Amino acid sequence: MKKYNFNAGPSILPAEVIAQTAQACQEFNGIGLSLMEISHRSKDFQPVMDEAQALLKELLDVPVGYSVVFLGGGASLQFCMIPFNYLEKKAAYLNTGTWAKKALKEAKLFGEVVEVASSADKNYTFIPKDYSVPADVDYFHFTSNNTIYGTEIRKDFDLPVPVIADMSSDILSRPVDVSKYAVIYGGAQKNLSMAGLTFVIIKDDTLGKVSRAIPTMLDYRTHIDKGSMFNTPPVVPIYSALMNLRWVKAQGGVKEMERRALERAAILYDEIDRNKLFRGTVETEDRSVMNICFVMNDEYKDLEADFMAFATARGMVGIKGHRSVGGFRASCYNAMSREGVEALVACMKEFEAQH
Ligand SMILES: *Cc1c(COP(=O)(O)O)cnc(C)c1O
Repeated sequence: MKKYNFNAGPSILPAEVIAQTAQACQEFNGIGLSLMEISHRSKDFQPVMDEAQALLKELLDVPVGYSVVFLGGGASLQFCMIPFNYLEKKAAYLNTGTWAKKALKEAKLFGEVVEVASSADKNYTFIPKDYSVPADVDYFHFTSNNTIYGTEIRKDFDLPVPVIADMSSDILSRPVDVSKYAVIYGGAQKNLSMAGLTFVIIKDDTLGKVSRAIPTMLDYRTHIDKGSMFNTPPVVPIYSALMNLRWVKAQGGVKEMERRALERAAILYDEIDRNKLFRGTVETEDRSVMNICFVMNDEYKDLEADFMAFATARGMVGIKGHRSVGGFRASCYNAMSREGVEALVACMKEFEAQH
């Protein structure tokens, strides 16, 4: 049976990206060795690093004066690296969910943190809009896509302070005006590559402004200066990122990724709104096009386990909602086909017809 992978992360990748990465692990570049057993400084691997950085810059139209680095440690390590490198006195954070809150918690270890707004009192079902960012903060941090709750900020902020964004789960799903950011970062395992890799896009001249000493490995300048080769980088995830970046480019780039994301989301949200059994969990205007959350309507609540079994039997994988929301979550990253979403919608219709 064909499986449709709606996992939230690690998540779906194009079949050819998986095949190419598997091949490189068997034998890389026809050199008679695996990618896993050669030096990251070899003449065979260096071009992989160079092209991956260049292609991420090209696809996101990253202006001059910015660097792309590939690190380990996940987005979670960035929650502390950001304040380590940027927080001198005070920072502003927008609290839109679990990941935003975790980032905010780490920042408090380094200085004063202003929570400019929060949607916690409504279980993060909306994006706060009525707030202001103090002019004297070192930076403003937000999470563009709330993977767990299914809300998304699909715009770039115009602010007089440096803007820093966690784009773990919507990077490469739409064009972004990178010039409006000091830093964009994320774990690769949602929409860029396999697990084990973190990308950070940094405006070079925003660094070096804090007075504290920064441990070498946690200082962005170390990794920029050494081209992400200060220590051994995660070579296989970087290779799979490169294969995926080439795939995105061949498909038509981030504009085409956005067109497909909007199309998939429209198909699924239309069905959620139409189907008598289901309802969406977040404010319509703040709906994520990446992580689509829905629950059974109250009068059909006891059908939840039945629908899960019904959909699973038809090849749907990973649609169980996060425990803090319940119900269902269909994560529709770049590699999810329209056909996959249509298969899920067909399940919803068929199940409705039976009840
Ligand atoms: C998954 C996720 C994280 C955590 O990423 P790790 O790489 O596991 O640390 C952080 N932020 C967002 C928005 C995420 O979706």
